[in-house]
Amino acid sequence: MSFDQEEAARLREWDAAYLWHPWTGKTAGDPLMIVRGDGVRVWDADGREYLDAKAASLNASCGYSHPHIVAAITRQAATLMHFSIESAANPPAVGLAAKYASLLPTALSRTFFCNSGSEAMETVVKLARMYHALRGEPGRQTILSLRDGYHGATLGAVTATALTLTRAGNGPLPGAYAQVPTPICPSCRAAEAHDECSAPSAQTLRAAIEEIGPDNIAAFVMEPVLGVAGCLIPDPAYLVAAREVCSEYGILFVLDEVLTGFGRTGRMFGFEHASVVPDVLMTSKGVTGGYAPLAAVTTTQDVYRTFADDSLMGGFRHGHTMSGHALACAASLAVLEVIEGEDLVGNSARVGGLMLDELRRVLAGEPHVFQVRGLGLALAVQMTDAAIADELAAACLELGLIVRTQGSAVCLMPPLTLTETDALTMCSIVAEAARLTAQRNRNVLEV
Ligand code: PMP
Repeated sequence: MSFDQEEAARLREWDAAYLWHPWTGKTAGDPLMIVRGDGVRVWDADGREYLDAKAASLNASCGYSHPHIVAAITRQAATLMHFSIESAANPPAVGLAAKYASLLPTALSRTFFCNSGSEAMETVVKLARMYHALRGEPGRQTILSLRDGYHGATLGAVTATALTLTRAGNGPLPGAYAQVPTPICPSCRAAEAHDECSAPSAQTLRAAIEEIGPDNIAAFVMEPVLGVAGCLIPDPAYLVAAREVCSEYGILFVLDEVLTGFGRTGRMFGFEHASVVPDVLMTSKGVTGGYAPLAAVTTTQDVYRTFADDSLMGGFRHGHTMSGHALACAASLAVLEVIEGEDLVGNSARVGGLMLDELRRVLAGEPHVFQVRGLGLALAVQMTDAAIADELAAACLELGLIVRTQGSAVCLMPPLTLTETDALTMCSIVAEAARLTAQRNRNVLEV
């Protein structure tokens, strides 16, 4: 099915004239115009086919145009697109909250819905501070996070995110935030040759808490795998130790599983790799598989009761027009049926493991490849610098594979429906792209 070429030309003009692309300095010259998707494949306006290792926005967990999800969305749109859940309810929102409770450890039983990962982070900031205030500790306001973590783009979320690129020109930022060293060896991250790994331990977290003063700290938030930082994978022992340190100091331990939740790392949730249970869990992306915007903040009964029993502030004074959007929740319920019914979590572990081995094999000896790492279908090829990573990504695109670069890392996070055959095709495209990149750089040196 080809896309009308006149229409494509008109859209390109409008794109150049009217659309403000997020995260870009200027409107991109001729951006990829994706018009259709099916499974792990998408097609552009010229009819070119691509394998999508970016899963739309790292969220298309079930692939494109999944009939079960499409049918559920269509049914819900024709029945009730939305009804506010503020002092009311709608069936998909209730059903999804109950589904969360059934998938999570018993302790995590209350779910608050919002619309994006950033909103989930904002929700956590307000919730954590108010929680302590209601318990008689209003001084606990500081939100601790990891130096390389990513928690969103809105002002509160961006302040919990130390990546300088996301903060530039936005001062003054809200107060009472602090970052601690990421538990990843700095030499590994910088892609510099080194002999020994020296990842900061949870001792550095403890030291930071002691320095700031535990009575000033509301919450510590981290990702089980730091996706935006380029798939950095902390030792699960760090999560266990961090959980203990937070409990010891009365700090809420928050896991941001916006990217890792719902199978991305080969387990339903990233925290299962470490057998820890957070006080608060943030999820988004994979839960709707990209079919609708939705995010969630799930807490323990203890946290919830603090607000439910409150007569001081009148409960949690926070929410959004689209919180618990019926269509989005219905999409999520269908996505979760697919994730469970097609064992996409098992597939993520199995096909992700195969891809990791294969990428390491085919990229061995490539001069610009520093490291290949991954957990489930969250994989990254760490290149020696960011320019080379961009070149590798561009070569992949030429060869029909969409990847995402993050600094010097090229990330592959395809839909969890990926078959072994498509996984191997992706690996051979990356290998060919790496060979091309090496060749082009040799040519540059020789010229
Ligand atoms: N947290 C994490 C771990 C993320 O990966 C992201 C998005 N990449 C966010 C928060 C922010 O989500 P959103 O873009 O939906 O606001």
